[in-house]
Amino acid sequence: MTFREGIVRRGEAGYEELRRRLVRNALLPARYLEVIVRAQTIDEAIAAVRLARELGLQLATRSGGHSWCAAALRDGSLLLDLSRLNDLRVDLDGRRMTVGPGLTNGDLTGALAGHDLGFPAGHCRDVGLGGYLLTGGLGWNAGTWGPACHSVAAVEVVTAQGDVLVADDRHHPGLLWAARGAGPGFFAAATNFEARLYEAPRFTVTSSFAFPLSALADVATWVARLADGLDRRLELSPVFASAPASLAALGIEAGRPIIVVTAVAFAGSREDCDALLAPLEDGVGRRGFLESEARRETPQQALYEVTGARLPAGRQFAADCLWSDEEPLVLFEALVNVTSAEPPIVAPAPSAFSGEGQAVRLGLRGVGRRECSGAQPGMAARDDAGARVAGRRLLRRRGRPRRASEQRCAIVQPGGLAASQRPEGQV
Ligand SMILES: Cc1cc2nc3c(=O)[nH]c(=O)nc-3n(C[C@H](O)[C@H](O)[C@H](O)COP(=O)(O)OP(=O)(O)OC[C@H]3O[C@@H](n4cnc5c(N)ncnc54)[C@H](O)[C@@H]3O)c2cc1C
Repeated sequence: MTFREGIVRRGEAGYEELRRRLVRNALLPARYLEVIVRAQTIDEAIAAVRLARELGLQLATRSGGHSWCAAALRDGSLLLDLSRLNDLRVDLDGRRMTVGPGLTNGDLTGALAGHDLGFPAGHCRDVGLGGYLLTGGLGWNAGTWGPACHSVAAVEVVTAQGDVLVADDRHHPGLLWAARGAGPGFFAAATNFEARLYEAPRFTVTSSFAFPLSALADVATWVARLADGLDRRLELSPVFASAPASLAALGIEAGRPIIVVTAVAFAGSREDCDALLAPLEDGVGRRGFLESEARRETPQQALYEVTGARLPAGRQFAADCLWSDEEPLVLFEALVNVTSAEPPIVAPAPSAFSGEGQAVRLGLRGVGRRECSGAQPGMAARDDAGARVAGRRLLRRRGRPRRASEQRCAIVQPGGLAASQRPEGQV
């Protein structure tokens, strides 16, 4: 079979440029695919799997290219790029959609907004639904809607044999189970997903408060209190960010780390959003906040502007993830080491909050702090080799919370939380 876009082999003209474009992270690993196929149809996806068998190559898959570690780049494999499979069909009455893996979060939410429908799409606009849904997917309004994979009702796949299967509760249920969280370990190429949709919250309102690092302990205690019994409609995100130049007048040098606590309320009325956010304003002045923006209406696309500025494209990222039931203060203290590295390995952000700086995120929403909280240190480093190496080493050495959180981890499974004890050092 011939492929409409042809195939690109290692060593051919255009190979290296394409390899780079397949990965969003500018921290590109030295891993080389033998063959790249960009499928435009399911028939081409089947043909690509069969071609890999013929050539005796392992198969790698890609949708949006947003894997932090560039999982799609596997030495000696045939890469099946599924980003062109990006059809969206919405059943308005049944509140269901079928969606190709190549559609992005931003395009999905944009299309659904016109129908007042919502889906727990991820926090960044350009992430592909293929990798996002397979990974589990912690997105907007996850407190109410749950992880995105819990809304997946069926998945169409091409198996390693080159056969097409549709897995749902009644057919191949084990395959559906695996598709809800296997992530880069998934053992088939997903070509379509069927998922439930929800009535979109009529209002989305955001409050944001910035604090100096000297307020760390106080802010951590405050966040722990807020997160305890947090209303499902509220998403709370403490972030270590780079200070904007506007804070210089307050004695905070541009680019130095500060703490930003953001809360997003998703509710049916403006009054409900205000009621959800009001408690955040109690006593916030005593914590010495630097800047604040309380209760701003933020439609989905505006939320994407904020997260897009925090995690800008074209930068080098080193990221690490873990789940922990540790108190926020322990995690904060460990993560602050990353942000206060000397010399700073992160370019200062001249204007916007953390626009070009580092982002260290503690996701306290999604599964609820009582069971477990997640820590995802991510870092944007300068575009030079020294920063790249330093960034990686630093994150490995200092970015990981070191104490009990390494010893007591919880693993999230679709359908429930299973807390597990892990031996020390195994994260
Ligand atoms: C800026 C940024 C923001 C993010 N924000 C969030 C967030 O808010 N919530 C969240 O949960 N995650 C978030 N993530 C993580 C993201 O969801 C995962 O990295 C996800 O795997 C990316 O999906 P992708 O299709 O874009 O990536 P890709 O790099 O294309 O895919 C990653 C891997 O997933 C597998 N895969 C992808 N598509 C298929 C397919 N169709 N069939 C079989 N296997 C496939 C492959 O092994 C592939 O190598 C974010 C990542 C970035 C870079």
